Amino acid sequence: MIVNNSGFKCHDIFSHKIKEDIITELHVEIDDTNDLGQAHKKISLLEEKIKQEIPVVSKTIIHLDEPSEILYDTTDITYKSNELIKILIIF
Ligand SMILES: [Zn+2]
Repeated sequence: MIVNNSGFKCHDIFSHKIKEDIITELHVEIDDTNDLGQAHKKISLLEEKIKQEIPVVSKTIIHLDEPSEILYDTTDITYKSNELIKILIIF
C-alpha cells in the first residue's frame, strides 16, 4: 500500500526474517528503466518511505520491472492480522 500510495505498482512481496533482521523484497514497476540514475533516485526515496512507515524492516530489496498492464488488487489486512497469525501457526 505504501508503494501504491507513492504512485507505483508492485508485486511479489516477500519478507524474510533472518536472525534479528526482517528483509523485505519486492518488485516495483517503474517507467524510467532506460534512465537508471532517475530510476534509482525514485526507488531510494521509496525505500526510505518503507523504512519510515515500517520500522521493523531492516533492509529492503527492490527489483525494477518494466511497467505492465496487470492490475493487482490490494486489501489492508492489518485489522485481522492476529487472526491470520493464529491460523498460520497452526499450519
Ligand atoms: Zn516482477
